[in-house]
Amino acid sequence: MGARYTDGRNYDRGPGRHTAVSRLSPYLRRRLILEQEVVSAAVAMHGEAAAEKFIQEVFWRSYFKGWLEHRPQVWAAYRDGLGADTDRMAGNSVGRRRLEQALAGQTGLDCFDAWVCELRETGYLHNHARMWFASIWIFTFELPWRLGADFFYRHLLDGDAASNTLSWRWVAGLHTRGKPYAARADNIRKFTGQRFNVRDEDLAKVDCGLEDEEPQGLPNAQPLRTIKRMDPNRPTLLLITDEDCSPEALEGFCGPSIVAAATLETGHLRSSGPVADLVLSFERGALGDAGLRCGLPVTPLCMGRAEEIVALAQRHGATQILTAYLPVGPVQDHLLGMSAVFEANGLTLCEGRRRWDDMVWPHATAGFFKVKQQIPRFVRVGLETRILEASGTRPADAI
Ligand SMILES: Cc1cc2nc3c(=O)[nH]c(=O)nc-3n(C[C@H](O)[C@H](O)[C@H](O)COP(=O)(O)OP(=O)(O)OC[C@H]3O[C@@H](n4cnc5c(N)ncnc54)[C@H](O)[C@@H]3O)c2cc1C
Repeated sequence: MGARYTDGRNYDRGPGRHTAVSRLSPYLRRRLILEQEVVSAAVAMHGEAAAEKFIQEVFWRSYFKGWLEHRPQVWAAYRDGLGADTDRMAGNSVGRRRLEQALAGQTGLDCFDAWVCELRETGYLHNHARMWFASIWIFTFELPWRLGADFFYRHLLDGDAASNTLSWRWVAGLHTRGKPYAARADNIRKFTGQRFNVRDEDLAKVDCGLEDEEPQGLPNAQPLRTIKRMDPNRPTLLLITDEDCSPEALEGFCGPSIVAAATLETGHLRSSGPVADLVLSFERGALGDAGLRCGLPVTPLCMGRAEEIVALAQRHGATQILTAYLPVGPVQDHLLGMSAVFEANGLTLCEGRRRWDDMVWPHATAGFFKVKQQIPRFVRVGLETRILEASGTRPADAI
């Protein structure tokens, strides 16, 4: 998190050798560990100045989450556009062949094929590799960006609706509009330690991004979604999903009104295509661990149909369902889509949002700079208000 990270973080040394980066993303993404825990550990160990780069990267995650909360239409457009891209590809034999070669890692471009293999086998790619991969996918192979984002989402252990969709959009020149990311041969050779024999002529020259696909520009930022708060006096079913696997660190979550708890597997909702077994088993492990930590008997749910959840709540006399805040993405689509059924059965779906998100998200309305400027204040306020606690403690977040 200190000097070694700052100096080495851009180097993709290959599978099993990613030692200058933390590889914490599958845990952070599921809130098995919290942003505040890693930031406070970084500050405690290295001081704010030496850990600046690492802390900034953690805030990129919070920024992307907040940005998508302010523009949920961007997620809906991705989801709908992905279906349309898939249909279009079915009728395009040349494009389909190129897509099949890319997905199989048989393009003949050695770096790209190696990254496909690493992603499929380990569920991880270094950040720089993700950037080069997405750029080559979009500009050299001229494949639809959403199909690439979907491939990542189905295979990355840290796959996240906000970080993934918005990073692909960023590479395509749709997030910071007009500034696409161009993969360059010398850059790939240097930061992969000359592992690959990629030449300039192997890669497309990138003059402009995909802005013409969205001539209307970005939608305006809208206020954060209003949520139903928990009534501490009503019997409650606690529902744990892999959006937040630290129920014990959310105040009220394990209080006396919780009469039953369930974990809900949702990994399969990431895509209509097959989601990697590695991702599904990681999720199962994370939910099992969260269930153990919440200290209650837990019912594991797989399909999570509304009737199944209603029946469980009714069996235990619960009149409300409590879950950690559902950020924009497939789990929110799934659970909020069932809220009418819950209501019809006398159940209120309540959510608890973390103070960390309440602190950062109001600033995530435009570019990262607005959040970056606030980082010293976030760290100071975080320490004062005990959002940032010494590493190893699990501060309870108000809900
Ligand atoms: C095309 C593309 C797709 C991506 N898809 C995802 C995704 O689905 N899920 C995901 O968590 N990250 C995604 N990222 C961001 C980034 O690549 C990963 O978070 C990072 O590589 C994770 O490795 P690490 O934990 O070793 O990171 P470290 O360098 O050790 O960083 C520490 C933590 O900061 C956060 N972080 C670091 N860089 C970024 C970033 N650029 N954006 C957002 N958060 C960041 C992560 O939570 C990470 O664990 C994507 C980036 C690109 C370019």
